[in-house]
Amino acid sequence: MTAGIDPANFDVSAAPGTDFFKYACGGWQKNNPLTGEYSRFGSFDKLAENNRKQLKGLIEELSSKKNERGTVAQKIGDLYNIALDSTKLNAQGVSPIKSDLQKIGAVKNKSELFKLVAELRMMGLSPYFALYVGSDDMNSSMNIVQTYQSGISLGERDYYLDNDAHTKDIRAKYQIHIVKMFKLAGFSEVEAQKAMKAVLNIETRLAKVAYDHVKLRNPHANYHKMTVADLKKEVPAFGWDTFFTTVGLKDLKDINVAQMESVKEVASIINTVPLREQIAYLQWKLIDGSASYLGDKSVAQNFDFYGKTLSGTKEMKPRWKRAVSNIDGVLGEAVGQMYVKKYFPAESKERMLALVKNLQSSLGERIQSLSWMSAETKAKALEKLSTFYVKVGYPDKWRNYSALEIKDDSYWANIKRSNNFDFAYMINKAGKPVDKDEWGMTPQTVNAYYNPATNEICFPAGILQYPFFDMKADDAFNYGAIGVVIGHEMTHGFDDQGRQYDKDGNLKDWWTAEDGKNFEARAAVMANFFDSIQVAPGVHGNGKFTLGENIADHGGLQISFQAFKKATAGNPLPVKDGFTPEQRFFLAYANVWAGNIRPEEILRLTKADPHSLGKWRVDGALPQIGAWYEAFNITEKDPMFLPLEKRVSIW
Ligand SMILES: [Zn+2]
Repeated sequence: MTAGIDPANFDVSAAPGTDFFKYACGGWQKNNPLTGEYSRFGSFDKLAENNRKQLKGLIEELSSKKNERGTVAQKIGDLYNIALDSTKLNAQGVSPIKSDLQKIGAVKNKSELFKLVAELRMMGLSPYFALYVGSDDMNSSMNIVQTYQSGISLGERDYYLDNDAHTKDIRAKYQIHIVKMFKLAGFSEVEAQKAMKAVLNIETRLAKVAYDHVKLRNPHANYHKMTVADLKKEVPAFGWDTFFTTVGLKDLKDINVAQMESVKEVASIINTVPLREQIAYLQWKLIDGSASYLGDKSVAQNFDFYGKTLSGTKEMKPRWKRAVSNIDGVLGEAVGQMYVKKYFPAESKERMLALVKNLQSSLGERIQSLSWMSAETKAKALEKLSTFYVKVGYPDKWRNYSALEIKDDSYWANIKRSNNFDFAYMINKAGKPVDKDEWGMTPQTVNAYYNPATNEICFPAGILQYPFFDMKADDAFNYGAIGVVIGHEMTHGFDDQGRQYDKDGNLKDWWTAEDGKNFEARAAVMANFFDSIQVAPGVHGNGKFTLGENIADHGGLQISFQAFKKATAGNPLPVKDGFTPEQRFFLAYANVWAGNIRPEEILRLTKADPHSLGKWRVDGALPQIGAWYEAFNITEKDPMFLPLEKRVSIW
């Protein structure tokens, strides 16, 4: 493979000013057709497939030999073998969840119910609402216990509430799916039908009070810190004492109830819905949550609904891929430690740190020259920028898995123990200082993130590879690809949500009123533009939901292009393959978003994903960027042309 951009990715029969996505990625789309196991396959997935093969090699080295009990090697190797043992999985069928199903079925009163809800949470399920420990938005150096709306298996409230034909069809098929799964778990047709009605009733009630994505993006609307004593007064109908004692938080004092409506509705459900219906709902959480770790019949039915119906995927991933992904989830940092040792070169880290530094100064220059922001706010913004906590490659200290036991009972029993292990790890953080050195992603992940609470940007080793990053490629490529990703994560610190947090990660307004208004007016241009995009016949993008990500793409492009020009100013790059360095910058950017997608997945992601679809991260983002017009000679004759006064201009 040649370094940097690959002209085979392009489709030069398309006009760059008509459909830049096709122009830059049409060749890639043709050369990487969707296989049955994908509902969307893009550059990210292609690299993730490659990483998965590397992980498989590392895992198989361990699984092929006998390892000493209690070692990480034994845990990884044995769990992989358990996941692959189809004979045993099928012989066991649904028996690994039988005793828990019976336990739920035997609940006799509300007090037992509260205990059970807590126990299910500890095994990794989230009936009714979620409970977790995370940094306190108003006191970001400390962890606090928090509740969060949850409990609906379709994930999105819209699936329960919308009445368009597609959503109604999903809902009808969800009901059939619930019945089939209950029958597979040993229930009669009559019992399964009754259970399905109960599940749908409870989940619809939870969906009705759930905030939509736009409201969930407003941190103030999701912050209600209170004492547990006050919570008990406000929601007396829920057995908080039993619940907290069971999860190991007996003397809990403070809590953030992210959405009070959700918790109140749960209390109302528990007090008005007959016990046997609630039992059905809780049994469903167990059946649904364990399905992919049981015999093939459960796995297949689970895929039939969530894979085929919901996403349009045609076939299941082979067993080894599912196994590698699950081990990645259970023992992520243990696998990651092996991964970076073998596959992450030290010089990648050095070049990345240099890129981050250049991007940081470029954003600083851009902030300083903004016409719409006062000197006062600029000083605060620059301070926030200069205190970014930068993580590249892998964590300095690794997670300890010694308390996790992997043994030869059943796949689900191991997953349950792992969930319990993770839950205990999390609960242990309650009321303690936030550990800034902890990573929010494993090193082998093909992704990156910004965390407002710690003001950190993180780039795992997994993404620091082609086509995001290439040690052999020139600056046009690396600034266009990983450079924009770095700028994207930095901009999250200054998007519609991130800008509400100060340099220490506290939810505290550091803007003058006028600067805040200016920002919102400029952001509204972006939201309106993406609202106007038709992503499928009759279906529009959600500009407010995708606002943060679109602002981040926009900022990323602006910042990285400026840094690229500065880095190459003294030593201009040559024309290569007929493309100028500026053109190659934008082509490399577009190729990061190359991909194919099924129509069902477009509809699902439009409801569920805060990111715009790949095509629109290119064709929606670039018309806002002046340098792109210059690079490709785009004029008002081109369909993608936007007059200057209609273009987004923020960072
Ligand atoms: Zn993002």
